[in-house]
Amino acid sequence: MSRKTSGPGQLCTKTEVQLALTPEQDGISWPVEKFLHEFQLPSAELEIQNKELRHALAELEKSRDCYMDLYNFAPVGYLTLTSEALIAEVNLTGATLLGIERKELLLHHFTHFIADDYSDHWHHFFLGVLQRDERQDCELVLKRSNGSLFHAHLDCLHVKTDNGGHLARIAFTDISERKQAEETLRIAAIAFESQEGIMVTDANGVIQRVNNAFTRLTGYSMEDAVEKTPALLSSGRHDKHFYQCMWTTLNEQKYWQGEMWNKRKNGKICADWLTITAVAAPDGNITHYVGTFSDITSNPESLAEIHRLAYYDLLTQLPNRRMLLDRLRQALAASNRSKHYGALLFLDLDNFKNLNDTRGHYIGDLLLVEIAHRLNANVREGDTVARLGGDEFVLMLENLSDNIQEAAIQADLVGEKVRDAVALPYKLKGLELWCTASIGVSLFYGHEASVDELLKYSDFAMYHAKKEGRNSVRFFDPEMQATLIERSALESDLRHALGRQQLRLYYQIQVNNERRAIGAEALLRWIHPERGLILPEQFIPLAEKTGLIVPIGLWVLQTACAQIKDWSGNPATSSLQLALNASALELRQPDFVEHVRQAISTTGINPALLKIELTESQLIDNISDTVAKMNALKALGIRFSMDDFGTAYSSLAYLKQLPLDQLKIDQTFVRDLGDNSSNAALVQAIVLMGRTFGLDVIAEGVEIEAQLEFLNLHGCHAYQGYLFSRPLPLEEFEEFIERV
Ligand code: C2E
Ligand code: MG
Ligand code: MG
Repeated sequence: MSRKTSGPGQLCTKTEVQLALTPEQDGISWPVEKFLHEFQLPSAELEIQNKELRHALAELEKSRDCYMDLYNFAPVGYLTLTSEALIAEVNLTGATLLGIERKELLLHHFTHFIADDYSDHWHHFFLGVLQRDERQDCELVLKRSNGSLFHAHLDCLHVKTDNGGHLARIAFTDISERKQAEETLRIAAIAFESQEGIMVTDANGVIQRVNNAFTRLTGYSMEDAVEKTPALLSSGRHDKHFYQCMWTTLNEQKYWQGEMWNKRKNGKICADWLTITAVAAPDGNITHYVGTFSDITSNPESLAEIHRLAYYDLLTQLPNRRMLLDRLRQALAASNRSKHYGALLFLDLDNFKNLNDTRGHYIGDLLLVEIAHRLNANVREGDTVARLGGDEFVLMLENLSDNIQEAAIQADLVGEKVRDAVALPYKLKGLELWCTASIGVSLFYGHEASVDELLKYSDFAMYHAKKEGRNSVRFFDPEMQATLIERSALESDLRHALGRQQLRLYYQIQVNNERRAIGAEALLRWIHPERGLILPEQFIPLAEKTGLIVPIGLWVLQTACAQIKDWSGNPATSSLQLALNASALELRQPDFVEHVRQAISTTGINPALLKIELTESQLIDNISDTVAKMNALKALGIRFSMDDFGTAYSSLAYLKQLPLDQLKIDQTFVRDLGDNSSNAALVQAIVLMGRTFGLDVIAEGVEIEAQLEFLNLHGCHAYQGYLFSRPLPLEEFEEFIERV
């Protein structure tokens, strides 16, 4: 047995030490004590060292196991190849990727796992790996043992062994999914650049991307279009109803296809065949819309179709506004020659919107088609029945008498006949429905009036028929003419009102149950240089019709914010919440939220002191957009009140969606609280509803103590009305507030 020595740094076990010392003892006779003494020290030291050794070994084993686990179960396949590309080593993942048992792999030729088309590429690459000392990678198609293929990414390193041999260490992963995604992307990119115009919008309809064909077809570049909405292309030839139907289909079926008139950048109006597809995320929420369109104006085969599109209403197949105007021009010329009267009957359905909202657009459409039939059945051949859009129809009667009274009687007869026909019940999809129409009539004779004027006259007469109780026929008369003339004069004055600083805000106090001032409502007044003070009822509808309400509304907003700022220094006014009225058109402006944000930040006011009053009808129109805008404003700290609450048909479903703070009971319910018990019940119901939704309730139009008492008793929180004060000009309001 050879003796083991323990040199410096070398360790041996306790028994080995004892064995090693035994022969030494034979030759040398040391005193036992000395030996024991000499031996005890190293033996204690060795004992410690042995412990450390065992510990180190255990640690080593642990880390080797850990390494082996990492090696085997790494998400990457590891291979070691000899210089002949024989598999010398493989981890479990590698074997799994290649679809074979690990033990069967060893000393297999790796080339067997290379797809045939890639073997040259592999040989070339492998040679390169063995020749160089740096890391190299490549993408290949590998073949599993069952013959199936997959794309792999290989990362290789050349290693020299101690005995001068060469090895290649390879890490490889399955990249099939990535390859497939890349391919899908490549195909999508090619498809995106197809001949058809494509635009992609986000869920809010804001354009994110357009393709080159879009630019070629419309004239709008990517920069022109991105961040805009498809309204950029709007031709103005489709009415609200058309878009409503489109959105209903899109929401229900996630898909819409049809013809649409679009305006090019150069102003030309073209017919497009448009397909819109909604793109939903896995959770079902719509994330994008993809619109694909091609121009069908230039396709000769579509010319007849285009004519139909251009001159006929798609739903009812009746002539549309353009065709009507053409025919009306011809009719005026014919009347001029024949000296016979003609008539234009403007027909608008009563409560169609209501029916459309409650029964759905599909039933609404069926009703319109049925009405178109009934109208056609009640006019003579040669007369024109046209649909202007929505629920508006026009009948043009030609060749009436050459005597004005007789012509009027003839037109009236047709009007009454049509009115009766529309009022008959409808059976649509098993539903029995009723609908009535209001009809306005104007006579024409030669070129006495222009085409536009005639339409305006009958429209105005129809408006009077509606005002007088609906389901009736009303003729345009000289009195109406005078009103119309006055209205158009007012309209042209209104265009200057803002610039000439003729607008004012009046302030009407709002109080709480203790009759303490808590806020005010800003109410617009127009101080006309000749007519004096004009109330909003007389000019706001006009401002809305002409779009002037947008700049006017902005002025109201800025003035109200400046007023809050001005009041902030005075303890009598600093905590007043100021309410302003915003009209539907203002709310629909894409930059409405931004304008409010700016008005707040430039004045630096506390946003909680600003309240915006909206009416129910304006909220229903485009509820998702409204809710989004209201939420954005809410986030700034602004409050919302629902004005004239109770006058529209309130649906709890939408009320729940709106981030409101307050309901404002309409003054009509407050007015006859004393003698109308149904109004009393309604007021109670509104207060209850407010409580259910966590909203406070204010009553407007409180004029007498009895009303206040009733409202107070039924849980109303705040009040506004002549009982406390009328709306006052700024100076008077400021004086008044100091006094109360
Ligand atoms: P509103 O927002 O419902 O305003 C309440 C109306 O009731 C005001 O009429 C107010 O003067 C009147 N009123 C207040 N207390 C009483 C009362 O005790 N008895 C009676 N009989 N009436 C009372 P005003 O000022 O003529 O405004 C009419 C409407 O015009 C407003 O109705 C609002 O819808 C609109 N309006 C006013 N200012 C603006 C504005 O700046 N922008 C917009 N878009 N609309 C405005
Ligand atoms: Mg109001
Ligand atoms: Mg109101």
